[in-house]
Formats: sequence, structure tokens, C-alpha cells
Amino acid sequence: METAPTDLTKELRAKGYRLTPQRQFVLQAVANLDHATPDAICEEVRRTARGVNLSTVYRTLELLEELGLVTHTHLGHGAQIYHTADQPAHVHLVCRGCGRILEAADSAAEPLVQRLLEDYGFQTDVRHLAVFGMCAECRSREQE
Ligand SMILES: [Zn+2]
Ligand SMILES: [Zn+2]
Ligand SMILES: [Zn+2]
Repeated sequence: METAPTDLTKELRAKGYRLTPQRQFVLQAVANLDHATPDAICEEVRRTARGVNLSTVYRTLELLEELGLVTHTHLGHGAQIYHTADQPAHVHLVCRGCGRILEAADSAAEPLVQRLLEDYGFQTDVRHLAVFGMCAECRSREQE
């Protein structure tokens, strides 16, 4: 697998950071897979770097998050999923009917975020948790 340096790693290099090849593989896997759990990321990395184990992947993801290169979201009871930090911010909508993950613009949650700030002084990180419900397709199927 050829690992083309992402804009993020270029940015890092400009700041004087360097990622080891193994960390680079993990970052690349996050970028390739989109919404991947550490398990899936580990599997992807193993295709190139055989010796990598799950705890290494977890530690690397933590480091990459500290460096601001990836973010994570919880979709429910399972393991969190990862994104590269250069993706446009979005809220995850998980359908209970078909299990699909839909993405909504951050601004869709703005009224809630505003209200919680004004009424409770609470600053909400809407991207950290997913919103559960029923997608349009499943709803129309139910109404048939
Ligand atoms: Zn997402
Ligand atoms: Zn979390
Ligand atoms: Zn659905």
C-alpha cells in the first residue's frame, strides 16, 4: 500500500512533528475506512504492517487525537468510531430500523445547542455522541 501523505501529515511536518510509519498507517486507515472502529482500523493496518496489535492501535488513535489529527464519535454501545480531523464537522444519525449511519450538518443541531447554552449555560459537543432514531426510508416503509 502506497501511503500518500495527507494534508494533515504535511501540516504536522510543517510544525516539526513526524509520524512513524506505523502511526502513518493508522491515520491512513482512519481516512480510508470512514466511521471505523479500532478493530476495523487494526485489521486494515495489518494488511500492511503485520505486527500491529489492537492495543497499539488504541494507543496510536489516542496520540493522533491528542495531536488533533482524528476525532471520535460514539454510536451506541459498541466501540467508538474514528474520523480524520480534516472532514467537515457533522452529527451522526443512527437509524434503529436499518442500522445506517447518516450524516447531518452541524448546523442542524444549532437550535438545541443554542437553547442548552442560553437556558443551562451548557456548552454542547454534539459531535461526540450520535443521535438515534428512524430514517426517512424506514419511516415510509412503516407507513405502508
Ligand atoms: Zn461521520
Ligand atoms: Zn468519547
Ligand atoms: Zn433506516
